[in-house]
Amino acid sequence: MEGTIGTSPAGTDGHAESEAPAEASARAGRPAQSGGPCPLCEYEAWAYLFVSHGIPVYRCAKCGLTRLYPQPTRAEVLAFYANSTGHDPFADDAHLPDSVTEQEAAKAYVRVLQRRGPPGPSVLLVATAGHPFAGIASSHGYEIETFLTMQELSRSRLAPERYDSAVVILELEKADSPIAALEQIHGALKPDGKLLLVTSSMDSWSARFFGSQWPGWRPENLYTWTARRSGRPWCAAASPG
Ligand SMILES: [Zn+2]
Repeated sequence: MEGTIGTSPAGTDGHAESEAPAEASARAGRPAQSGGPCPLCEYEAWAYLFVSHGIPVYRCAKCGLTRLYPQPTRAEVLAFYANSTGHDPFADDAHLPDSVTEQEAAKAYVRVLQRRGPPGPSVLLVATAGHPFAGIASSHGYEIETFLTMQELSRSRLAPERYDSAVVILELEKADSPIAALEQIHGALKPDGKLLLVTSSMDSWSARFFGSQWPGWRPENLYTWTARRSGRPWCAAASPG
């Protein structure tokens, strides 16, 4: 992998919520199983953290990956937002193109790509529809050939070895299978292609400060990462060569 940036998602509308573990267990019922082996390191020990938005959160004892379990379906996520903010996390995020924060972040992502070499003509972008990265990257010589959300990617067949770069912005968290998504992207990159992966991070200042109140705990974010090394080189799944 050529570059990774940890960041905190914007536009969470202050709807993060959590409960004390004891209360959560009593209300939601702590499941006897936590979803099987870790999809990154395949370790089977999970530490229960807390309940967020009514869903238990577990952390892999080996690599630190966190996982919601049981994982909410898309319909359940939409129902959650319908009952709270009305926001559709899978739809076009209207605030993004005008968000100064997102625009500045998008410029930073372009600079990361530029530092990794001259721009190739073809970029695969996996991001929320309307994300300002597309326009900013285009103005710097990149061509956004394909622009998908993670849900659309999972239903798509990409041409093999087509793209010079792949940019994934705060979408890998939403993948039912992060490894499968990365393998799909890997197959679509040219042999010398580059991947820029932007994820929310448990190592971020905001995640450590806010703990269970961190806005990154959203029902659509099925997974959250740490920089801790896992037993499985999951980043290599999308690393060319
Ligand atoms: Zn793990």
